[in-house]
Amino acid sequence: MVLPSDIVLCEVGLRDGLQNEAKTLDTSDKLEVANKLISAGFKVIELGSFMSPKAVPQMADTDELFFRLQDITNVEFRALVANKKGIERAIKCGCRKVKLNVSASLGHNLANINMTPEQSVAGFQESYNLARQKDIEVSGSISMPFGSPWEGEISLKAVKSIVEAYLKVGVREISLSDASGMAVPNQVYKVCTQMQKSYPDVKWWLHFHNTRGMAMANILAAMQAGITHFDSSFGGLGGCPFVPGAAGNIASEDVVHMLDEMGIETGIDINKLMEIARSVQCLVGHDTDSYLLKAGRSKDLIR
Ligand code: ZN
Repeated sequence: MVLPSDIVLCEVGLRDGLQNEAKTLDTSDKLEVANKLISAGFKVIELGSFMSPKAVPQMADTDELFFRLQDITNVEFRALVANKKGIERAIKCGCRKVKLNVSASLGHNLANINMTPEQSVAGFQESYNLARQKDIEVSGSISMPFGSPWEGEISLKAVKSIVEAYLKVGVREISLSDASGMAVPNQVYKVCTQMQKSYPDVKWWLHFHNTRGMAMANILAAMQAGITHFDSSFGGLGGCPFVPGAAGNIASEDVVHMLDEMGIETGIDINKLMEIARSVQCLVGHDTDSYLLKAGRSKDLIR
């Protein structure tokens, strides 16, 4: 088995996780979590999103978080944006990195905004240009490239066409996001291999939800294909508003534990991370889908 020696994890719990919670956390609690994540070793953190506060009230204080963390320069903080309005907020609060998102599902796009995924991505040009003028880095995400509840399977050709739309806009960092939890490992291996071969200059991220318990197997398959950047969420928090029964992202502590045991470097302290995930469970007020928080580290069993 050929595997990378190092993996970079982006902690997305503060965005993907908390946006799905009924309870909106206080800014001070979020800041404390962010600072603990930094001290646990995370070098990439998705802090929030610049969406309409009416639509996503849990993320309304994203600006404040960026503002309060602006002196920290050795961590990449990113935020999800939908349009130029979001970029304008990013500029004001000192955010240096944004992520655009489009659904790979034609049916989903047509039903929501009456545009094809490619048209949506082309519409990001203005946002991209504004961000780059202000030296803000821009990445792009493609959600449901491995399957969607609208059309089932999404062809590789369809995903490539969206990737090309992003490249045309200027985006060179792309995340494949299995928000519907439909990806399977041999498909992940094939897609990741093909994508890297066709677009060797793109920096790829993979983002798996654990809706059907396949996220960890999918991470392993992606690593075998040479992918080294993954998103994960403390405690396994999260969901997807469009997908019935959607689970959260794969739990960060479960991923770090697996990689630790496999001798793959993440730079993240598992004990600190478990403590963070436990504190987040207290903050949101319920149990979450985390194996590690239930069972502990396998090393801790050795007496
Ligand atoms: Zn997600």
